[in-house]
Amino acid sequence: MKIDIMTLFPEMCEAVLSESIIGRARKAGLVTVNCHNIRDFAGNKHNRVDDAPYGGGMGMVMQAEPIYNCFKSLFDGEKPHLVYMSPKGKTFKQSDAVRLSKMQHIVLLCGHYEGVDERVLDEIVDEEISVGDYVLTGGELPALTVTDAVCRMIKGVLSDDICFTEESHFDGLLEYPQYTRPEIWHDREVPKVLLSGNHAEIAKWRKQMSIEVTRQKRPDLLK
Ligand code: SAM
Repeated sequence: MKIDIMTLFPEMCEAVLSESIIGRARKAGLVTVNCHNIRDFAGNKHNRVDDAPYGGGMGMVMQAEPIYNCFKSLFDGEKPHLVYMSPKGKTFKQSDAVRLSKMQHIVLLCGHYEGVDERVLDEIVDEEISVGDYVLTGGELPALTVTDAVCRMIKGVLSDDICFTEESHFDGLLEYPQYTRPEIWHDREVPKVLLSGNHAEIAKWRKQMSIEVTRQKRPDLLK
């Protein structure tokens, strides 16, 4: 699986993607993730990538040509699935992480400032994804969120598939509560069943708790 991120701030993405589980997965060759600076494809002597919006208004808009040049130069002849990170997109869900993880090659386009000239979106983008109904300063954090969630679904990135199949949202429920040592902390005890060694009872308790936690915290998921 290959993920390419097109951004004006590649160092910001690299800093996150070099750490922890995703950093190790990259080093082990389980996933290939590359960050590309759109500014390198500006095609003008001042490396300018934005301009004022037609019709007036605040801020700057990312120009179509640098983004188009970046995409065409890097992926000419290929057909990667291009996702534009956008607050106007469909809200990202665990099922999208699973779906995207089955693709060979995805490219994530990060906007900045007031956004991106609509014409380049119309020309090259396959889908728009939002990380939630709020506006961030740029698409980098959303792209990192999608990259992390997708990479976790790739075989070998986590130690076992059960690491994610039992987790919140995988099957539409939230996860059961988790505990670790010590057995008693601030007079609060670990539920006895988890100390019993009875795996069937533990599995039953976890399923019940999963439904209960979902009912309490996210009843909308049970509908
Ligand atoms: N003017 C745009 C609007 O009102 O829809 C918002 C632009 S935002 C300040 C700059 C960039 O951040 C966007 O082009 C997009 O790439 C990214 N972005 C902001 N919020 C996002 C979200 N909730 N999900 C995904 N990307 C987001």
